[in-house]
Amino acid sequence: MRDIVIVGAGMAGLHTAESLRAEGFGGTITLIGDETRRPYSRPPLSKELLTGTGSDKSIVLRDDDEFDALALDLRLGRRAVRLRPADRTVELDDGTAVRYDGLVIATGARARRPATDPAGVHVLRTLDDARAVRAAFDTAERVAVVGAGFIGAEVAASARAVGLDVTLIEAAPTPLTRVVDPRVGTVLTDLHRDNGVELRLGTSVEAFEGADRVERVRLSDGSTVEASLVVAGLGAELNTEWLAGSGIRSADGVGGVLCDAYCETSVPGVYAVGDLANWPHPRYGGRIRLEHWTNAGEQAAVVAHNLLAGEGQRQAYTPVPYFWSDQYGMKVQLLGQAAPADTVEFVHGSAEDRKFVAFLGRAGLLTGVLGLRSTPKVMRYRPLLAETTTWEEALAAAGVTPRP
Ligand SMILES: Cc1cc2nc3c(=O)[nH]c(=O)nc-3n(C[C@H](O)[C@H](O)[C@H](O)COP(=O)(O)OP(=O)(O)OC[C@H]3O[C@@H](n4cnc5c(N)ncnc54)[C@H](O)[C@@H]3O)c2cc1C
Repeated sequence: MRDIVIVGAGMAGLHTAESLRAEGFGGTITLIGDETRRPYSRPPLSKELLTGTGSDKSIVLRDDDEFDALALDLRLGRRAVRLRPADRTVELDDGTAVRYDGLVIATGARARRPATDPAGVHVLRTLDDARAVRAAFDTAERVAVVGAGFIGAEVAASARAVGLDVTLIEAAPTPLTRVVDPRVGTVLTDLHRDNGVELRLGTSVEAFEGADRVERVRLSDGSTVEASLVVAGLGAELNTEWLAGSGIRSADGVGGVLCDAYCETSVPGVYAVGDLANWPHPRYGGRIRLEHWTNAGEQAAVVAHNLLAGEGQRQAYTPVPYFWSDQYGMKVQLLGQAAPADTVEFVHGSAEDRKFVAFLGRAGLLTGVLGLRSTPKVMRYRPLLAETTTWEEALAAAGVTPRP
């Protein structure tokens, strides 16, 4: 293994390079990214970068010295357009080809765009997107946010923080209906309302109207929302097109690049990491894929190890998934996995207090811990999710008597 190529210079790509060096790899690491800047952190883009409370420094993952110490063959502003496993090469958009002994797919995701997007309609994935939304905040009075997932919710909160009128449009009856029990969605709905956001729930966007830029949003319930700025938080699309015809298999269900327990793809010697990797997790009864900042780092360490490991030395990747979101100065945290049909038990605080820790369970097992404004308590339960814990054992650990 002399040449390792990492395609995708985001969080997962950078961490893979770092972990390879930490594992003692002294060969060439080529890091290819189609953005023109070094890997940066995306979470601040919907938070402090929009409110203006954070500088560009808040997105810096590594300072120049740390980055230079990795001694990377860095190819920024270059897009991989094709993978040819038969001759172990990646073709780039400038017509050049890079040979590899080991390859890591870390091309992540992009924001899903609305079917039409006239001037004034934005999405949020990159630093350029965030700067454009931030600049639009300066002149907009009324903002419509489409989609009350985590990014939409954070954009709504940030827009309120700078004093804009905000309407949040969501097709489902409560935010996060597809992710978690409606009781939690209701807490988040109330949080938006308390903070002056107008909510249009259970309705979707029919069209953006306006002369040469968006002026209003027409909804499926026949109503309209006046807005000179629209931010669409419609989820992500995975950057996997360049893998077409390579033999790298995609996963069904939650999608992504199909990997085994070691994060190796269907093509030997090719691994996947970060938002697009889909692998079997024994504690969740099937395959999972995580669009989480923490996962991008943790999975990278395992991928780097496995790339270099000898026969029988590879590690299965079995993390405790972790996600957080900051809205209106409050932290929402999820350890493990959540699904709408989960059993939910508030073990500390309550939905009414807007401060709680809730256990989430499936098939008699603890599968997730969800918290609002309860960071230390949430983290205390992490060890329960690092192994198989029955619902009764989990409740006992929290000092809660199981209901008959
Ligand atoms: C606005 C925002 C806020 C977020 N907030 C949170 C949060 O609060 N908490 C949390 O846990 N997570 C959060 N996340 C999610 C987290 O940032 C992602 O999970 C993480 O960035 C994933 O890293 P990645 O390296 O897998 O993918 P990416 O960050 O998408 O990096 C992939 C890189 O590969 C590049 N690329 C794509 N195709 C090609 C190609 N063909 N050739 C070369 N390069 C290519 C992309 O342009 C990109 O630079 C947030 C994400 C966003 C967008």
